[in-house]
Amino acid sequence: MRHPEWIKVQSSGTHETKKILRRYGTSTVCEEARCPNQGKCFSKKTATFMILGNRCTRNCSFCAVKSDKPLPLDYDEPERVARASLALGLEFVVITSVTRDDLPDGGAGHFASTIKALKLKKERMQVEVLTPDFKGNVHALHTVLHAAPEVFNHNIETVPRLYSKVRPLADYDISLNVLHAAKSLDPRIKTKSGLMLGLGEKESEVLSVMRDLRKSRCDLLTIGQYLRPRKENIPVVEYIKPEVFDHYRMKGLEMGFKAVASSPLTRSSINAEALCRDVRV
Ligand code: SF4
Repeated sequence: MRHPEWIKVQSSGTHETKKILRRYGTSTVCEEARCPNQGKCFSKKTATFMILGNRCTRNCSFCAVKSDKPLPLDYDEPERVARASLALGLEFVVITSVTRDDLPDGGAGHFASTIKALKLKKERMQVEVLTPDFKGNVHALHTVLHAAPEVFNHNIETVPRLYSKVRPLADYDISLNVLHAAKSLDPRIKTKSGLMLGLGEKESEVLSVMRDLRKSRCDLLTIGQYLRPRKENIPVVEYIKPEVFDHYRMKGLEMGFKAVASSPLTRSSINAEALCRDVRV
């Protein structure tokens, strides 16, 4: 399937951003997941760090990140992420990770160390974490939140009917509970989630997920078009028109989300700082 004319993917080129990332040996989800916004984000010297290695213990069919036996933890990584962020001039850093079901805490301690390293490097550094579900482990969640990120993001990704096809090792209710628990543990934190469209979901299902997210006290929402990153990934079922994304944005605001980014090329971390800048919780 060729992309329709409203989806324009820019090549990532060889930006200064890439050189800095290589210098500090850091990985980004931008590259690992073949994000279509790489060119735009790297030219603005923004990137989303991917910690805990580049091998994932789950096998989501939409994701380009390798599913394999993970390597041991890299204890220098938090410091390198902090130094790379400083070199990029970032004041708002987004960190995500592969899923590490092999670790007793799911990698929560490593997230916490990275948040702390970033905040030690720069006063007023703001951090958004986009975490796995930690299998619903509230202690792991507490470890991450105790390090005081400003935004806690966990993506719901798709509608529950498609979980077995899209996220076979994940659980819709666990993901909702993680968001709810994050807000209950720290009511001052901004919670966020994201949905991909174009996987065969119906409008009524999308609206139902949005209502479930609001019931889980989710503040911020991103909605974007699924684009098949590799031929091994599941195909796109449908390209959703930009006006439909606008419709979901309006519906989201009516439901009480504090901010909604919804467009074909919206991704969880795009313009992350701007999305939450004026949001009060
Ligand atoms: S949208 Fe996010 S993942 Fe994609 S290039 Fe930008 S920062 Fe990276």
